[in-house]
Amino acid sequence: MKKLYKYLLNKLPRPILIRLSYLFRLVAPVLYKGEAVSCPVCEKSFSKFLSYGSQVAHRENVLCPYDLTLERHRLMWLYLKNHSNFFTQENLSVLHMAPEQCFIDRFKAQKNLNYLTADLVSPIADLHFDLHQIPLEDQRFDVVFCNHVMEHVQDPIQCMSELFRVMKPGGWAIMQVPQDFSRETTYEDPAIITEADREKHYWQKDHVRLFAKDYPTYLEKVGFETHIFDFHSHYSTEEIKRFRLMKDEVLYIFKKSIA
Ligand SMILES: [Zn+2]
Repeated sequence: MKKLYKYLLNKLPRPILIRLSYLFRLVAPVLYKGEAVSCPVCEKSFSKFLSYGSQVAHRENVLCPYDLTLERHRLMWLYLKNHSNFFTQENLSVLHMAPEQCFIDRFKAQKNLNYLTADLVSPIADLHFDLHQIPLEDQRFDVVFCNHVMEHVQDPIQCMSELFRVMKPGGWAIMQVPQDFSRETTYEDPAIITEADREKHYWQKDHVRLFAKDYPTYLEKVGFETHIFDFHSHYSTEEIKRFRLMKDEVLYIFKKSIA
């Protein structure tokens, strides 16, 4: 049973997994009973998390068996829950691009949020549009989430400036991307076009660049201010281990200043 469960979690594509998650929610607490790791999103503890990733980027003990969160989801959740106005401020207008499925129901249930999801194609999103030209008015949103998108788009500066435009002054955004911290500058070569080459150079077959340390300068070019949420100063080494966060992940908060 445990083997089959693990097999399914590793082999099935994530969207299908999430559709089956009601089933997983019944069996996971029994199969992975324990206290070694805990997920701040579902607030449950387990003996361990599951492994996740492709053969190139396989990671052990990272996927919550209950709600399928990964390291980056748990870090973002901790920031939202304990270090931002996201769950407390009344009437926050939120745009969630390419919404992470582990968050949608929880965010929708928040009475203080005016919550809108959007995606190029995903049937679960409220709106469908191309980020290069957002069909929405200026200065509408207090908060924008757009994670793991900029490494796929043709013109990231254009997309970032569109997001900047639809945000209110004083608003903030989380726009995480896979980032190679061993590189100073973002790697993008027009000669890299095959899926095999893209996977080799950019880590995934549908990525069109590999962002590096200079990622925030892209956002700054369109007007954002960069802030870093230093989770190491808020959480102990034990907590970081127990939540299974990636200890070198950098969580950026991009702000649109009022002035
Ligand atoms: Zn969880």
